[in-house]
Amino acid sequence: MIQTTAVVVGAGHAGLAMSRRLTERSVDHVVLERGEVANSWRTQRWPSLRLLTPNWQTRLPGHHYTGDDPGGFMPVADVVATIARYARFVGAPVRTATTVHTVRAGPQGFQIRANDDLLHARAVVLATGACNLPAIPAAACAVPASITTLTPLTYRDPGQLPGGGVLVVGASATGVQLAAEIHRSGRPVTLAAGEHVRLPRTYRGRDIFWWMQATGLLAERYDQIDDLTRARHLPSPQLTGTRQATMTDLATLAVQGIRIVGRLGRITDGAAQFSGSLANVCALADLKMNRFLNRADEWATASGLDDELPPPHRFARTRIDPRAPLELDLTSGEITTVLWATGFRPDHSWLDLPVRDHTGRIRHDGGVVTGVPGLYLLGMPVLRTRASTYIHGAAADSSALADHLRSFLSSRR
Ligand SMILES: Cc1cc2nc3c(=O)[nH]c(=O)nc-3n(C[C@H](O)[C@H](O)[C@H](O)COP(=O)(O)OP(=O)(O)OC[C@H]3O[C@@H](n4cnc5c(N)ncnc54)[C@H](O)[C@@H]3O)c2cc1C
Repeated sequence: MIQTTAVVVGAGHAGLAMSRRLTERSVDHVVLERGEVANSWRTQRWPSLRLLTPNWQTRLPGHHYTGDDPGGFMPVADVVATIARYARFVGAPVRTATTVHTVRAGPQGFQIRANDDLLHARAVVLATGACNLPAIPAAACAVPASITTLTPLTYRDPGQLPGGGVLVVGASATGVQLAAEIHRSGRPVTLAAGEHVRLPRTYRGRDIFWWMQATGLLAERYDQIDDLTRARHLPSPQLTGTRQATMTDLATLAVQGIRIVGRLGRITDGAAQFSGSLANVCALADLKMNRFLNRADEWATASGLDDELPPPHRFARTRIDPRAPLELDLTSGEITTVLWATGFRPDHSWLDLPVRDHTGRIRHDGGVVTGVPGLYLLGMPVLRTRASTYIHGAAADSSALADHLRSFLSSRR
């Protein structure tokens, strides 16, 4: 039996940031990691992926980017190296190859079973990530057995796909990036697009994440956002980590030869049915993009930057091919692979505590888990601010939650 004050589950960037914060506050703790440090980036990301946030934004408590390309975008290998370096830098007490099988109430607060060990702790931080499992729609069950199905967690490169057409379902950052990569390999690609977030890589000479930070968008707090549930489930923006292309949106993909269809609804008798509202969702995405660009322009004017920056402009609205099919026969042989780029979900199935709402998600107030004092959640989209969705958001989130955790420990002493 092992006794410690706090247990952090997961040694991704979020768990390591929390470890740093706990060390700063002299809270004795251990970080339990089922694989190696940065395991998700090592094992669950496709090799060609680059961060869509610029290098300058990849900062953690006590760490900022010092390379010679602050405006560039890190490939996966560099993300792994950065997080591994960070673990060494903060001296995080990580136990690798240690899978947490259960966390339940115990005499000191929590009892954690990890591999064959039993740990007792007064506080637990769940930092196991938001993207452990693919979120696949129910329609997936009706895909004919002859078709190869993949998710972004199992996709590696186009070489692993059989020849023939590919249906990519979902047009978030993942969907558009993978559709473009597979199309470049010479396969015919159909992309089913529901609600999406269209944004340019750069606007008025600056990266879009520069604008998101400058305008205060990323700093918006969770308790000041009107529709928090919606904000937490917003698809990632249609961006690629490259300076070569301004847009990776549906219009650009269509020009490249990718067939764009509406949101996948049902699959009946082998026929995939697509929503007829594609033009509407595109119009909505254009509207929202322009709303953000208006906000950016207003901020630039108010900040006296109009003379420094190129003038404002707008992007052409998204035109949809009116001949986009509403149905595709998956038994005809035209499509040989379906790639579910329909999002991710966390896996807290090992948590044996009454903390879930009716949808199965953990109830929490900015990362402070509701109803179980001493339990914290980190690394979730819009956890405390919109920045929480991204790596750099862990800096402020871990600080706030470590303060709460320390107060909790003092109050129970
Ligand atoms: C495809 C994709 C692209 C992204 N691109 C960007 C980007 O460009 N910029 C950006 O800022 N963010 C990006 N993100 C978002 C974000 O950075 C990641 O979701 C990030 O990995 C979350 O970090 P984390 O530390 O919370 O979780 P993770 O990195 O997932 O770390 C969680 C750790 O917990 C471990 N673990 C899980 N369960 C257990 C268990 N039971 N016992 C022990 N250990 C366990 C895992 O092995 C893992 O190491 C992207 C995410 C994805 C999926």
